[in-house]
Amino acid sequence: MSGPVVFGTTGKVESLLDTNILPRFQSLPQFGKVAAEYVWIGGSGSDLRSKTKTLEKLPKSLGDLPKWNYDGSSTGQAPGDDSEVYLVARKIYKDPFRGGDNIMVMADAHEPPRDVDGKHVDMKPIPTNTRFACMEAMEKVMKEEPWFGIEQEYTLLNSTSKWPLGWPECGFPGPQGPYYCSAGSGAAIARDIVEAHLKACYFAGVNISGVNAEVMPAQWEYQVGPCLGMDMGDDLWMSRYILLRIAELYNIEVTFDPKPIPGDWNGAGGHCNFSTKSTRAAPGGWEEIQKHIGKLEKRHAVHIASYGEGNERRLTGKHETSSMHDFSWGVANRGASIRVGRSVPVEKCGYYEDRRPSSNLDPYVVTRLLVETTLLK
Ligand code: ADP
Ligand code: MN
Ligand code: MN
Ligand code: MN
Repeated sequence: MSGPVVFGTTGKVESLLDTNILPRFQSLPQFGKVAAEYVWIGGSGSDLRSKTKTLEKLPKSLGDLPKWNYDGSSTGQAPGDDSEVYLVARKIYKDPFRGGDNIMVMADAHEPPRDVDGKHVDMKPIPTNTRFACMEAMEKVMKEEPWFGIEQEYTLLNSTSKWPLGWPECGFPGPQGPYYCSAGSGAAIARDIVEAHLKACYFAGVNISGVNAEVMPAQWEYQVGPCLGMDMGDDLWMSRYILLRIAELYNIEVTFDPKPIPGDWNGAGGHCNFSTKSTRAAPGGWEEIQKHIGKLEKRHAVHIASYGEGNERRLTGKHETSSMHDFSWGVANRGASIRVGRSVPVEKCGYYEDRRPSSNLDPYVVTRLLVETTLLK
């Protein structure tokens, strides 16, 4: 990641700063100090925020990480006259930007402990903390070893024009067809970002399992998983943070909007693949999956309401989606709410794909709903 970036047909896209300068400082010794980048979710429920804390030594486990706080009135999460929001460290990653022993920390947000009329009131999660309820649900189902895999689609935008990267200015590229899993100039746009993101996720310890170019030009996908329980939400949020940071270096914008360009252009999804100990075991697994699907059908409306803002612009029944008003499932059917893989009825076990969540899904909400509906109802 150094120097300006040039894309075949798209003209020159330059970073704002000379990216050759920072590396001179990055290699200076730190004399035992460790930078910890605490990452958390802000008030909109989709904005990622972070700030750095210097630690005097490398933490061995989460317990070595201090609690910290931030100004919740600046993130839409607390009033100005009572602005402190506490951060609790939840998962440690290696920092691919600073390298060395430096770390990034996925954290969640809490109201501080208080003294109310001489009585101690413990910390509690703030209303926008979706991780906490997810953790409570996962704790109840851990004996079923829930595994998730999320396919994160996203679109790259020119940060000035807000138009998809590599698209003709004030115009459209040729119709969809050649772009999905493509190679070549004008088809696979800004692959450098995708490659840098993949390597950075490996380094960080995010369980990224693949990447591919998507159906709409300037749209890409990566997959995270299979992840056990809470690792799904933590790793997906951290993978998004890493993507934003890499795109920042190129002065390129990332959008997780479910339908960035209206009309005959694919939307962006966040398919969630799911299995449990029981679905993964033959011969009962296939039957177990059908039981899950029966339960999911009954709670379709509850799931749809929490599967991403603006999802109604994407779930139209066109462009490999199901209508958001109906629940459907099928083997190998990409126009259904739930897709079961071809091999599942043959091998009598496996996993299935919930195709309804949009690209801006909150993985803490989606994984919580999946286990609540299929295992706790
Ligand atoms: P698609 O064919 O829908 O594009 P992908 O290959 O993009 O599928 O994504 C498949 C996802 O399923 C990956 O995130 C992977 O980690 C996940 N996955 C694979 N096996 C399992 C499993 N047993 N349980 C849950 N998720 C799984
Ligand atoms: Mn996929
Ligand atoms: Mn896809
Ligand atoms: Mn999929």
